[in-house]
Amino acid sequence: MKDSNFLKEHNGKLMWHPMTSPKDTIDQPPKIITGSHGVNITDIDGHTVVDGVGGLWNVNLGYSCQPVKDAIAAQLNELPYYSTFRGTSNDAAIELSYELNQFFAPDGLQRAFFTSGGSDSVETALRLARQYHKLRGEPGRTKFLSLKKGYHGTHMGGASVNGNANFRTAYEPLLPGCFHIPAPYTYRNPFNETDPEKLAQLCLQALEDEIAFQGAGTIAAMIMEPILGAGGVIPPHKSFAPKVQEICNRNGILLITDEVITAFGRTGAWSGARLWGIKPDMMATAKAITNGYFPFGAVMLGERMVEVFEGNPSAKIGHGYTYSGHPVGAAAALACLEETKRLNVIDNAAARGTQLYEGCLALMEKHNIIGDVRGGHGLMTAIEMVSDRATKAPIDGPTTAVVQEVAYQNGAMVRVSGPNLILSPPLILSEDEASTILSALDAGFAAV
Ligand code: PMP
Repeated sequence: MKDSNFLKEHNGKLMWHPMTSPKDTIDQPPKIITGSHGVNITDIDGHTVVDGVGGLWNVNLGYSCQPVKDAIAAQLNELPYYSTFRGTSNDAAIELSYELNQFFAPDGLQRAFFTSGGSDSVETALRLARQYHKLRGEPGRTKFLSLKKGYHGTHMGGASVNGNANFRTAYEPLLPGCFHIPAPYTYRNPFNETDPEKLAQLCLQALEDEIAFQGAGTIAAMIMEPILGAGGVIPPHKSFAPKVQEICNRNGILLITDEVITAFGRTGAWSGARLWGIKPDMMATAKAITNGYFPFGAVMLGERMVEVFEGNPSAKIGHGYTYSGHPVGAAAALACLEETKRLNVIDNAAARGTQLYEGCLALMEKHNIIGDVRGGHGLMTAIEMVSDRATKAPIDGPTTAVVQEVAYQNGAMVRVSGPNLILSPPLILSEDEASTILSALDAGFAAV
């Protein structure tokens, strides 16, 4: 490896980073992470901190999950690649489709279509939704509904259903026929409604109104995160998702849950669908499916999809990825699933999630910069920072950067996205490690 002076000198110069301006990367070079152990990461200067971000919501089992590493190494030796395009398959992908069929049976999901990551999974789900209706003889159902503040990856389809202008404006025009419903975001919403249950009803009414306005027969699918993640951890009231499902069913609209973050235990349930007691027609997954050790994803497909696609000889799936069902990814996913179940990660996700959520609420008592704390469902917590709590006036970037940096110096990597400080640590986090994140944040807020 090149020495650390070389790396520091070139840091930010030659690589453009996602979701960052190249100029910023030069002015404020990113932290160079070179090592890891357990839930800790170490930077190039040897400073070790608890990873409150969990990689990027994906390293659920931490950085030292030996069974996954061994499975990857063994698969690389056995069969490093073979495609699953027409006419060929590979043993690891077949075995994984069997295990996922078992794992997602309670969600009513029966088949897997493999992808290389979350954006791919969203793209596939949107495509299959349109194709489903064409196969059924309703080709006019082409539109998509989604929630404002939702995040659905970066492909053109996903960006079109994304509910945040930051990820849209620079790339417009996007896909026509995508419409956005207000999110059940209690802290800020167009109805000025502060009661979560009443707000859920207002958002549901907006969904009904949009369907009536567009015409149900023009809409292919609704896509939503069971708990909005990147948009700032927005958990809806528990009445929301079941009612969305009911409205979709009543109108012949497919329901896609985007569980790129929520599948495999993060919410304290095995899936977001199970958390809310719904059965989506499709579920987009990725991230923790391989613990972040290999780029991989899967779209899980429910009964309606299975009936229409498998019952129709002309139902050719006209898209796919070179790495769909990649044997190394599949082997990683198999080992991951086994570890995830063996460790029963949902219990710790729930317990540590409560600890972090309550700890953040306690920090809110101390620090006026905290306008809102959201979480309470597993290890997904966000702190929304404001410059004035009474008026909810937005915070500025330099202040949030100070919070983040001081937290880092005090032992925790945390993520800042706009006004939100997002916590999504590995699900194997210990009580002490959760306390470290909280005390690091306390120091960060005290500094501003
Ligand atoms: N959907 C959701 C809900 C996500 O959180 C993400 C990534 N954060 C994606 C889709 C896109 O996944 P990827 O970055 O793996 O393409």
